[in-house]
Amino acid sequence: MLVNNDLYKKSSKTQKVRCEICANYCKIADGNFGICKQHKNVNGELFDESYGVVSSLSPDPIEKKPLNHFLPGTLTYSIGGFGCNMTCLHCQNYMISQEYDKFSRGIEIMPESIVENALKHDCRSISWTYNEPTIHLPFNKKTSLLARRKNLKVIYVSNGYFSDKSLNEILTFVDAFNIDLKSMSKDFYKNVCGADLDVVLDNLNRIYMEGKHLEITNLIIDGYNDSISEINELCNFVVDQLGLDVPLHFSRAFPYYKMDDISPTNPEILFKAKEIALDKGIKNVYLGNI
Ligand code: SF4
Repeated sequence: MLVNNDLYKKSSKTQKVRCEICANYCKIADGNFGICKQHKNVNGELFDESYGVVSSLSPDPIEKKPLNHFLPGTLTYSIGGFGCNMTCLHCQNYMISQEYDKFSRGIEIMPESIVENALKHDCRSISWTYNEPTIHLPFNKKTSLLARRKNLKVIYVSNGYFSDKSLNEILTFVDAFNIDLKSMSKDFYKNVCGADLDVVLDNLNRIYMEGKHLEITNLIIDGYNDSISEINELCNFVVDQLGLDVPLHFSRAFPYYKMDDISPTNPEILFKAKEIALDKGIKNVYLGNI
């Protein structure tokens, strides 16, 4: 499917295109894909090669996203796709985000059917989750607008690596976000995730300032982002730049994908992280995967 031409720029001299769907701003030569491996330059036009193809569809308790303060006790209809705009070495969903060619087969579905399924399962919302939804922006926007017409709320579970342009659009149709704030270290974002921390922090600020429901998840990884100073820094960011009312989820990591040599996070670190966050006044702090 051809991507709307306001989401990419064509070069006047070459056949290259610059995708502006996420903060990678990939410059893609004719016949090649961007980092997410979903968008392809075909004769100087950008095509979304996975429009209408999903990896998973299922009703879930909304607390699984995790969102603990948005429509609590309800079901949300979860939709996952393929690919990602980050390349995290510890990805817990790498079988759909990175190496899906080896493991997964897609399901073809149209927006109308997703909304019908959500209603049939008595869901109160739909959630774009499991892989990074931003890279499927045209598909999830169309589906989300249909869902909202049927009084369903829309949730993004995301790494927050939006371009300014895509965040402008996303804010028009998403009601609640869980953003994965992976670390407060620029080096961690660069070397472990292939991304830029500042973009994520700016986008978190913007989502909060727009008054959207926001919860944050931080996966604590043994030896990488589990220092007390980094946990303090992350909590300070929430307190100073966002608000004490933003729920914070600390989650335990296990050896996985290209980080199969780490130890499972010591639960004591998670308990300490919760104590630090509560001491700073953050009202709602949760622990996951323990
Ligand atoms: S969505 Fe992001 S990663 Fe994918 S091609 Fe566009 S800029 Fe690159």
